[in-house]
Amino acid sequence: MKLNEPPSDPSSPAPSSTSRVPVPAPSSRAAFKEYDFFKVIQDYLDRAADVISLEPFVRTILSQPKNELIINFPVKMDDGEVRVFKGYRVQHNNLLGPFKGGMRFHPSVTLDDVKALATMMTWKSALMRLPYGGAKGGIKFDPHSVSRAELQRITRRFTHALGDNIGPEYDIPAPDVGTNAQTMAWMMDTYSNMVGTTRKQGVKGVVTGKPVASGGTLGRAKATGQGVVYCIVEWAKETGFNLEGATMSVQGFGNVGSHLGVILSRLGVSTIAVGDHTGYMINPEGFNAHKLQDYVAAKGSIAGYPNGKPITREEFFSTKADIFAPCALENQIGEAEAKNLDVRIIAEGANGPTTPAGERILLERGIDVLPDVLANSGGVTVSYYEWVQNKRSESWSEEEVDARLERAMTRAYREVSDFARSHKLDRRTAAYALALQRIETVYKEREIFP
Ligand code: NAD
Repeated sequence: MKLNEPPSDPSSPAPSSTSRVPVPAPSSRAAFKEYDFFKVIQDYLDRAADVISLEPFVRTILSQPKNELIINFPVKMDDGEVRVFKGYRVQHNNLLGPFKGGMRFHPSVTLDDVKALATMMTWKSALMRLPYGGAKGGIKFDPHSVSRAELQRITRRFTHALGDNIGPEYDIPAPDVGTNAQTMAWMMDTYSNMVGTTRKQGVKGVVTGKPVASGGTLGRAKATGQGVVYCIVEWAKETGFNLEGATMSVQGFGNVGSHLGVILSRLGVSTIAVGDHTGYMINPEGFNAHKLQDYVAAKGSIAGYPNGKPITREEFFSTKADIFAPCALENQIGEAEAKNLDVRIIAEGANGPTTPAGERILLERGIDVLPDVLANSGGVTVSYYEWVQNKRSESWSEEEVDARLERAMTRAYREVSDFARSHKLDRRTAAYALALQRIETVYKEREIFP
């Protein structure tokens, strides 16, 4: 399925009374003609706002991002040609602290998608009780299609063009799809060369997810996957499910998906099906997650990995497993996929992988969903630990980072579960409601300037 492809069957069945988790009603904003990620996220906001009777002025403010920046910038390519790239930074809200969110390098990046992702960052920060708001950015291009030298020039030129629109106390980027620790090292280095000699050493915190030697933190690379694991472990405890011997399918074997596979393998969970932008494959005996992670790191994708049998996308989404972990892009589990998935739980490593219509079907079928704003918030949480270490010139051990993350994820998981149970809600609406309540409290205290 292509990105932004319309859901396969826009008329969804009525919620059934047999579902274990309450099924949210179809959107009041009407069926979306084509997949409009930002509208989907706005609709989640409306739904949760209704549940908690959110102050109307807070809903109005949070319905739109504060700032939307589009920058067209030129870069000289290796062959001497000059190409103009389109970069985005959307800053949704900074009530609770500086804007915070990833930078995505992908050909499908659009302003509306970046708005949706920036908005979700505001909920994640609030849900995790971090002193951050929400932002997201990116450049519309395929990072696999340029040389390393070109990638570096594109990254540095975009950082320069962003100028004062980012900063360690203002807006702090991090890795996302198509970017990694190396990208962050280039961004930090560029920014630190723009602020003047005397301030240079104090601005390491302008980005998080840096390489450890350049001011990053231990535990950040795996943090998002690790956080998903802590949620799955809590879910297993809550539902009496034994993870030892369980099976998983993972879509996307990049940063989030590969660390999730590796960490869960230590708990006895086999990854039996994987897929990425190049295709899908199965191995009923279980992939060696470590080896596959090394392979992808060396080759850039799972294509050509010898120990799996190629399958179609449809076969991948019909593979029987206990856990399905979408760790690639948004809009992947529509109605057709939701009807075919033969699993007990969806753990959303990716942002926005499940469409609203897809989610209704999953919940009707009794398949649990651990929503993105909860499940993948380990990344921003450990980014916060990195930022604090940069401010204090400290280096925490990996054990300390992991222990803090485990406490934070476990607390958030239980808060969402308790709220969902007590208010008879699905987990996504519960997570949004909790985040909104925290933001509303501060808006009510501070009110509106002037
Ligand atoms: P990544 O670039 O490391 O990996 C992305 C993966 O998705 C790759 O395996 C890629 O092949 C695959 N992919 C890309 N296009 C695809 C397509 N059309 N079909 C199937 N697979 C496709 O990115 P990542 O950092 O692992 O991010 C993955 C998801 O997790 C994104 O939704 C991102 O927003 C979310 N996320 C990432 C972090 C983080 O810390 N990196 C934190 C929170 C959420």
